[in-house]
Amino acid sequence: MTVKFRFAPSPTGYLHVGNARLALINWLSAAKLGGGMVLRLDDTDEERSTEEYAEAIQEDLTWLGLTWSELKKQSDRTAAYEAATETLKQAGLLYACYETGEELDYKRKRQLARKLPPVYDRAALSLSAEEIAAFEAEGRKPHWRFKLDQVVVSWEDQVRGAVDVDCGSMSDPVLIRSDGRPLYHLPSVVDDIDFSISHVIRGEDHVSNTALHIQIFKALGAAVPEFAHIPLLMGPDGGPLSKREGSQSLREMRETGIEAMAVNSLLARLGTSDNVEVRHNLDQIIEGYDIHRFSRAAAKFDPAELSNLNAKLLHDLSWDEVKDRPELSGGDENIWNVIRPNLTKLADVEEWFSILKKNPPKTGLDFSFLKKAADCLPDGELTAESWKIWTTAVKEETGAKGKELFMPLRLALTGKSHGPEMNNLLPLIGREKVLERLTGGDEG
Ligand code: GLU
Repeated sequence: MTVKFRFAPSPTGYLHVGNARLALINWLSAAKLGGGMVLRLDDTDEERSTEEYAEAIQEDLTWLGLTWSELKKQSDRTAAYEAATETLKQAGLLYACYETGEELDYKRKRQLARKLPPVYDRAALSLSAEEIAAFEAEGRKPHWRFKLDQVVVSWEDQVRGAVDVDCGSMSDPVLIRSDGRPLYHLPSVVDDIDFSISHVIRGEDHVSNTALHIQIFKALGAAVPEFAHIPLLMGPDGGPLSKREGSQSLREMRETGIEAMAVNSLLARLGTSDNVEVRHNLDQIIEGYDIHRFSRAAAKFDPAELSNLNAKLLHDLSWDEVKDRPELSGGDENIWNVIRPNLTKLADVEEWFSILKKNPPKTGLDFSFLKKAADCLPDGELTAESWKIWTTAVKEETGAKGKELFMPLRLALTGKSHGPEMNNLLPLIGREKVLERLTGGDEG
């Protein structure tokens, strides 16, 4: 059997961590089973969907390294939805309703007042021809509801296990609005059928939709795909994700220096019982990936965990893996190996590159101490051993030790109180610049 997955964002905003996670899970599932992933843009909401967001979504997926086998837009598919609408009408499964929004509200309120579930009462099914003619004469346009079979719909969910949803307690869903435009359900099912989608993986918020979608698949004479519903992401405290934590878009993350593989490494494991580990590329994630490892419990997304993972990833990446990144132009393997243990984001290398090349400002330095230190600098080319030999000599000469010894040297040589190991930095700065920085020589 050929498998095909789909990721179906609505282009009404930028991708954030929650939908990036669903994209990744779909992509990994497709990769694991050797199938493709359709990128379906759910752009039927003309007011809120924009081309800019549609492009941004593709850019962000590409940044993550996620590819798609086909790109589809629901706005191109009106004819297919109309044909399906006709089929359902012919089958007597789509019925015209003339209630206004206020009338429906009123019904709901009355039901609630009587402690009844606010389920649509199917009054439209018993309208007489005269009543319909009267509504039409008034200029009312019908919206169309799908006539649910009021049974329990069951499926074996790849994450939730056996799921039963009682459609007897659900309102018949509106599939077509009174302006003729289809709402989410029908296009989603028609697309899943027409694009031969074998597996639907989406958020847990769609569980009850799936029950009615299964009925629509069957009503349209199509095979029902496999389903997996992934629990939603929560904030670090177990509450809903706040703007700061979760609805932060991928582009904001990227701008703050988060690496795509840090995002992927975290999102592939969050909500599973597997430990989160740094992965350098998607192939490494595919290896241990299995949709069944996602648990039914909500997963917590902690931006601090992502930042830590980002730093860990940078510390772990080899020169070959980073050398083509624009931030690294002008660097070399040696420099990278010295600098990477201190990075929290890749863009910080630029600062260290410039520290290596350009003498830092000479403010607040004790030049009488530094002059003595300069006199102790070992002869010849500076190597990884020089720092030890040098500081031992400076200690003997000046009596300074510990922080008092190391900090003035670090500050004079780098302009910063923290950074890569001095024994590694010293050879990179080089003898000439070390002396300039210790003796108040020319600015480099
Ligand atoms: N556009 C829908 C959403 O983002 C798609 C849901 C689905 O995967 O069917 O919720």
